[in-house]
Amino acid sequence: MSETVVRRSSTLSKSRKRAAFLSAVDTMADGVQNKMFAEIEDKYIQRFWSYVDIRGPDDCWLRKAGRQTRGYGHFWDGKRETSTHRASYRYTVKEPGKMHVLHTCDNPPCCNPKHLFLGTPVDNAIDCVSKGRANRAKGSAHRSAKLKEQDVIEIRRRYMFGESQGELALEFGIARPSISNIVHFRIWKHVPKERCFRRSRRPL
Ligand SMILES: [Zn+2]
Repeated sequence: MSETVVRRSSTLSKSRKRAAFLSAVDTMADGVQNKMFAEIEDKYIQRFWSYVDIRGPDDCWLRKAGRQTRGYGHFWDGKRETSTHRASYRYTVKEPGKMHVLHTCDNPPCCNPKHLFLGTPVDNAIDCVSKGRANRAKGSAHRSAKLKEQDVIEIRRRYMFGESQGELALEFGIARPSISNIVHFRIWKHVPKERCFRRSRRPL
């Protein structure tokens, strides 16, 4: 497999790499590209991207070098050792701070910013068990879960009927980014859509 990866990545020309990169970051918040190119002079950021196998905008972009722990790549960013997906999020979107950076693609070494989203530590734990990476029960059976499956269904339904993420966060006592991850099916994926949007209730 590695032979194929190397061959394919080396045939991707610099301009196609750049096009794929731009197309991926293009879908993000305004100014992300500008930020990216303002900072590209930084030698660590340059070095970081030079080792990422940038492919199509929707493909997984794997880092080609560096130490790995449990599938996650590591990278020295000049100040500290950080995981590669976290570095990617920092360089293309924003500093994640105390938040965790999670994958929609469930591919730990992936650095495609389109496949990354922010979550709270609880989101991360739930995401981890629901993807089978920890030997624990799913969703509400996890000890740090504040929500029950029924709450998740209720949140998605009410969001669809127009309630804001902020209102729902207040009412259910969880962080607003968690509401966003729930309503966009980035976490609690094991609670199926049909159960959330069954037409049992109509909007007022
Ligand atoms: Zn990916």
